[in-house]
Amino acid sequence: MTPSELLDYDRRHLWHPYASLSSPPPVHLAVSASGPRIRLADGTELVDAVASWWCVAHGHNHPAIVEAIRRQSERMSHVMFGGFTHEPAIELARRLAAIAPAGLDRVFFADSGSIAVEVAAKMAVQYQRAAGRPRRDRLVALKGGYHGDTCCAMALSDPDGMHTLFRGIMPRHFFAERPAVPFGAAWEADGFASMLRVVEEHGDEIAAMICEPVFQAANAMWFYHPEYLREMRRLCDERGILLIFDEIAAGLHRTGPRWAHDHAGPGAAVPDILCVGKALTGGAITLAATIASGRVAETISAGRPSAFMHGPTYMANPLACAAGCASLDLFAAGDYAAHAARIEARFRAGLAPLRALPNVAEVRVLGAVGVVELRAMPRAEDVRRVILETGVWLRPFANFVYSIPPFTTPDADLDRIVGALAAVAALPPGPPPEDGDFHE
Ligand SMILES: *Cc1c(COP(=O)(O)O)cnc(C)c1O
Repeated sequence: MTPSELLDYDRRHLWHPYASLSSPPPVHLAVSASGPRIRLADGTELVDAVASWWCVAHGHNHPAIVEAIRRQSERMSHVMFGGFTHEPAIELARRLAAIAPAGLDRVFFADSGSIAVEVAAKMAVQYQRAAGRPRRDRLVALKGGYHGDTCCAMALSDPDGMHTLFRGIMPRHFFAERPAVPFGAAWEADGFASMLRVVEEHGDEIAAMICEPVFQAANAMWFYHPEYLREMRRLCDERGILLIFDEIAAGLHRTGPRWAHDHAGPGAAVPDILCVGKALTGGAITLAATIASGRVAETISAGRPSAFMHGPTYMANPLACAAGCASLDLFAAGDYAAHAARIEARFRAGLAPLRALPNVAEVRVLGAVGVVELRAMPRAEDVRRVILETGVWLRPFANFVYSIPPFTTPDADLDRIVGALAAVAALPPGPPPEDGDFHE
């Protein structure tokens, strides 16, 4: 098929994320990608300023990851994980245990971030049941959070966010207000008050707390004070509640240190369960992991059933695990905190002047994340024009235009990204999204 025939078939038959099938927004036909660039069928090259939804940590098609998948594919692409195990899974679990916070070394491989969150929630409920607290079968999450698109993960995401349509099929959980004290500001005495109230009222029903530590990504693009995490840890210890950190977006150096919760200080806010995804395979193939402490695993295993009740078909797929090993080897061999610091400095300097623009509400930068919060999103066609004119791929949503680039993006491309963000920020505001329409 010619490129235009391919696009025509796509338009009529393929769903895209958060898109209509009757009036789909235009899509680009990508044919190859390497380093920070994506190449289109017509020869256009775009700098990927969003690391293809934040997973392409080392640049597209990193040769070490491609080679790891190729080598594994020649031996064994897949084998069921029920009744079998294999070296790629064991090696990846070892690498994860080595970099996870102390005490977390029991690994469950899931096929996507959303599933890793579902698994964490199920672990929490099974843990409480095994510990003799069967009434504790709900979680408390934060407003402004995002934990994925499957039902349980949606139910833990901002209750007024993009998932309100599905309230009827979602389990009900509890929510604390969005952590209001910004990262870098002075902590305020009542900064944790809302969570204290929720636990005061419902503590006996709560199996676990879940949050995206420090960086609320897909719903709020918000950086908050790490003291919040220390308060969470203290309260969880006091009340026998498990603490789940969803580091699917923020983990693996996205905010600077390896884990976003490291901002709280060494050992100061260690979770009982950690979810990792996105950058885990460096953007080559889908894989996520839910890593639990020995205490969680042993308590579940002492209960009835002693089995942990989850097991996807493609669990611990060997190709994905091989990619994960290669990606974590790249993280280990490089200085990714330094990459994040380099990107942070570039974004801080480049984006600061945008604060003066009339349509800019706020500019926020932490690690390898640069966010421009607009007062109103420009028209989609104007944003598309900026993308083609600047050659920088952006994917704004709600009122945010942002960059979360591959860590290896060279300075010259970072400057082009800053230029593209500036061009979007300077566009006239578009009309408000139609009632009931989701702006993606
Ligand atoms: C992206 C994301 C998820 C969901 O991951 P998928 O792989 O898209 O299912 C969950 N939690 C956070 C914090 C995320 O950013």
